[in-house]
Amino acid sequence: MKFGTYVFQPEKAEGFDFHVFRVKPETGIRLTPAPDVRSNIAVFADNTAVRNHPDWISQSPLGPAKIGNANYNIYWDVVCATQPEHRTEQLDYIEDVSRHSPGVWLNSQYFADHGHCTCPRCNELWRKSGLGWLEWRRKEVTGFIAQVRERVRNELVMCIQPDLVCSYERYGVDFDDFARYADAFNVVMFSKSYATPWYWEMLSRGFKKLLKKPFYVSLYVFGPGDNPRDVPTASELLTVSVRCARAGVDGILYLADGASQLRDFQKAAVSQKELRERLKAYGDQPVQEVLDRVTSWEKIVQ
Ligand SMILES: [Zn+2]
Repeated sequence: MKFGTYVFQPEKAEGFDFHVFRVKPETGIRLTPAPDVRSNIAVFADNTAVRNHPDWISQSPLGPAKIGNANYNIYWDVVCATQPEHRTEQLDYIEDVSRHSPGVWLNSQYFADHGHCTCPRCNELWRKSGLGWLEWRRKEVTGFIAQVRERVRNELVMCIQPDLVCSYERYGVDFDDFARYADAFNVVMFSKSYATPWYWEMLSRGFKKLLKKPFYVSLYVFGPGDNPRDVPTASELLTVSVRCARAGVDGILYLADGASQLRDFQKAAVSQKELRERLKAYGDQPVQEVLDRVTSWEKIVQ
C-alpha cells in the first residue's frame, strides 16, 4: 500500500511515497508543476474561466453551477462540460503539465451535477446525438477522457466523488469507461470529521467491488485557511486510515495546505500510542502497513 500527500503548496512532506500537487485548483490559478511531483488539475470547476467568460457556466433547471447555488454541493463556478474552447484549452494545458511532471490527476472532469448542463449548445448536441439524456452525457464525458488519454503519456488518475451509486446520473461518470483510460482512481473522501469511520470503510469496500483499476482514497487533514479546531483529529484520521486499508484500498492520500500541516498530523499520530496499540487488532497486513508507516514517522517528528 502506498501513502501520498495531496497539497496546495509545492512542498514534499517527509515520510510519504509520493506527492500530488494541486497545480490548478478550482480557483483556476495555475502553478508551476514539478518534475518529481504529480500534478492535480481541476478541469471544469474553474472560477477564473467563468469570471472571464460568464456565459460558459454550466446551466440546469435548478440554476447555474455557481458558488452559492445551494441546490447543489458546488463550492466553485463550473464551466459547461461541452464548452469547446475550454475543452481545447484544457487538453493543451493537461498535455503540457504531463510533460513537466510524472503524472496527471484530474478532478472535476465531468458534468457539474444532476440536471447539468441544459445550455442551448448541450440541448442541441443531445438532440442531434439521438441518445437518451443520461447516455449522451456519459458519451460527452467519456469522449473527453479518451482525448485526455491521447495527450497524457505518463500516469493518468481519475479523481471521483465518493458516490458509488449515482455518479452516472449526477456527473455522467461511468466507472468502467474511466477504467479503460485511467491508470488508477482516487476517491476523494474529504470531511472535516471522520467520527463515524464505519461509513468510510463501507464506501471503500463498495469502490473495491466496483472499480476495475487500483484506487486510492484521499482523506482531509488540513485545508487552506482552516481553523485547527475544525479539522479531523489525529485519532480519527488514524482510525479511518486503518478501516479503509482493511477494506482493500491501494493507497491513502492526506490532503493538507502544505508540508507543515502534514508534519503536525504525523506528530499527533505518533503521539497516539494507546490507539496505535489498539488498532493492531483491527486486521492483518494492510492495517499493519498503516501502523508501520506511523511508526516510521517517529524519527521524522522528533
Ligand atoms: Zn452546456
